Order: sequence, then structure tokens, then C-alpha cells
Amino acid sequence: MNNYPFSIRSKLPQVGTTIFTVMSALANEHQAINLSQGFPDFEVDKNLIDLIHAEYQAGKNQYAPMPGVKELREAIAEKYSNSYGVAIDPDLEVTVTPGATTAIFSAITAVVHPDDEVLIFEPAYDCYAPAITLCGGVPVYIELKAPDFTIDWEVVKKRINHKTRMIIINTPHNPTGSIISDKDMRQLEKLVLTTDILILSDEVYEHILFDEQAHQSVLRFPKLAERSFAVYSFGKTFHATGWKLGYVIAPEALTKEFRKVHQFNVFSTNTPVQYALAKYLKTPEHYLGLNAFYEEKRNYFLNLIKDLPFIYTPTRGSYFQLLDYSKISDEKDMDYAKRLTKEIGVATVPLSAFYHRAKDYHLLRFCFAKKQETLDRAVERLLKLN
Ligand code: PMP
Ligand code: GLN
Repeated sequence: MNNYPFSIRSKLPQVGTTIFTVMSALANEHQAINLSQGFPDFEVDKNLIDLIHAEYQAGKNQYAPMPGVKELREAIAEKYSNSYGVAIDPDLEVTVTPGATTAIFSAITAVVHPDDEVLIFEPAYDCYAPAITLCGGVPVYIELKAPDFTIDWEVVKKRINHKTRMIIINTPHNPTGSIISDKDMRQLEKLVLTTDILILSDEVYEHILFDEQAHQSVLRFPKLAERSFAVYSFGKTFHATGWKLGYVIAPEALTKEFRKVHQFNVFSTNTPVQYALAKYLKTPEHYLGLNAFYEEKRNYFLNLIKDLPFIYTPTRGSYFQLLDYSKISDEKDMDYAKRLTKEIGVATVPLSAFYHRAKDYHLLRFCFAKKQETLDRAVERLLKLN
């Protein structure tokens, strides 16, 4: 609106509409197969839907307690004590949120003060930097080292100073699919041990790792866990991104600060789904099979594209695969992604969208969390590139 009668001092003047919205809209407009925004196109387990339905019918339809339904917090605490042998207090250390995005937003808002610096690794998932900026904090960007997108800890050491309040890590990583190793976590531990730097660990793809790699959660490292918010998403784990349900695990002192924000940001989240998830989580097979499930999809997708002129290394985690198209075109990745959507009918996300100053490595992010037939149809269209 150019003729709006008042001037608005935007708090996020550089921010436009997210790349996920832009590419999904373009995909819809051109009836393209949407491998851009990260969401599955297959169904949620019918048993889980039935459990939710039963909770709606049983009248669990009013506000949930502010930190989340007790049964669900207990099931979450049990899940991690079974996986990592750590004791988590469901009352004092677990908070259920409407998705990982709000968990990230509330965690940052709870502890980042004006002029505090927060280290972010780029390419980065897009919701970190705006949340920091809204708090008056300063995002400090550190580039992951191509081609494997690993962390250079010497650079991190140089960027840490008395203003550093938080470091955000994300493993498995969106958009590159890289994973943080045990050695990385020990380096991180060494760097922060004698500081008051906090960690925000985005672990929404905790159950999507390939080639028998183990997920290195902050919760496995007591010296990190005591200064960390660990963030998770049921949307990713149970193929239901539209439910927007997640949680954060943090020590009591951090959870206390987190809830001060959470209670005014959202107060609580969907009650019947929480009761149903509490029951569903009791069966570890409901999430332990996910690595194999997605590894098969990754391999299926890579096999389909093996004769196409893309350059890649198989993704190590998440449900995203980066493909380098430099043998096909020297267009900018944003232009190429748009053209691919309009002319070939396959939508992807250009990697440059995950950098604060667009870097162009001629890489596109493909989401393979799709039915085989969807991947078949997409690659059939991509074959026209040959
Ligand atoms: N972090 C990462 C790395 C993501 O890919 C996403 C998208 N699912 C989120 C956070 C946000 O998760 P949610 O949809 O639960 O808000
Ligand atoms: N996490 C999803 C992705 O990376 C998208 C989430 C969103 O649309 N905000 O594609």
C-alpha cells in the first residue's frame, strides 16, 4: 500500500515473504510438483488419527495446561531417558509448543537482550535471524564449509567475545543435510565451557539420519545440556507438519525463563492432539523406524536421478537433498529454480535463500519426503533437462 496515510517503522525492514511460501505458491500457480517446501505428501498413521479423534470425542477440547498436558510431558521425558539415559523432569524441563518455530522464537526472546550477539551457521533455516533481530540482538553469521557444510571451530572461536549470548546449531541440518559429529559437539563444549553462552539446538530432524549415523543431541552431553534449549517437532517426526506441535527441553532455570515468554506468546497448544500423542509416543517403534523409512526414500530419489547431469553427495540427514546444476546452466539459483518450476514443472528451493546476503553456489534443495509416484513424476519431468 503506497498511499497508506501513516508511516510504519518496520522492525524487520529487510524481511520479505519466506521462500517456502513463494515457491509453494509458484508451484501451485504452474501445477508443478512441489519438492520445495518441506512437507510429506503421504498420510499420517491411521492409528494416530484414530487416537486424536477419540480425544476430541472424549471432550478434551479446552485449554491445555500452560506447559503442556502432563501425560505428554511425561512421555517425552521417558523417550529421552530411554534413548540417552538422561533424567529429564517432565514438570520442570519440558514445555509443549505449537511447533518448533514458536519454541525457537520463545527461547530466543527469553534470553537474548539488545546488543547480544548470536552465532548462526549459514546456510541457515530462516526463522533464527528475524527472532534475534526482533530482540535487538545481532545475528553473527558463520559460513559452513562447502562441500560438506561442516563447522570450522577455529572460526567460531574467533567470533566468540563477551557479547556472545547464544550459539544456534541445527543437526541434521536444513537445508544442507549435514550432521554434527560427536567430535563437533566436544569442540563446542570446549569453547563454551567457561563462558555463559547458551545453546539453542534445533533437532527437528532427530529421527532422520542415514548410513547408520547416530544423532548427536545436546542432551547426550551433560555440560552442553545444562546450557541448552533442545527443540523438536512432532510435525517432522509423525508426518504432520500442519498440526504445528513441538516441544522444548531445557534445564529448570532456562525452562523458567522460557515459560515466562511462552505463557504470553501462546499460553498453551492443541489439547486433544497432545493427549493422543502421549499415548502414541509410548511405542518407540512409531519413531525408531524413521531413519530406515527416509533412507529408502533418499536412495530411491538418488537412483532416479542418477543419469541426470546433477552433481551431489548423498544427504546425511533431514529429508532434503542438495543438487548442483552447474553442468546444466549458469543461471542464478533463484532464476533457475523459478524457471524449473514454470517450464519443467518441478519446484525446489534455491540455496541462496538461506543466506543473509545471497550466495550463489548453483545449488537447489529438493524435498524427497514424497510418495514414490510423486518422485517418479518429478524425475520424469526433470529428464527433459538431458
Ligand atoms: N527448524 C527446522 C530446521 C525446520 O526445518 C523446521 C521446519 N519444520 C522448523 C524448525 C519448524 O518446525 P515446525 O513446523 O514444527 O514449526
Ligand atoms: N521447514 C520447512 C522447510 O524447510 C518449511 C516450513 C515453512 O514453510 N515455514 O521447507
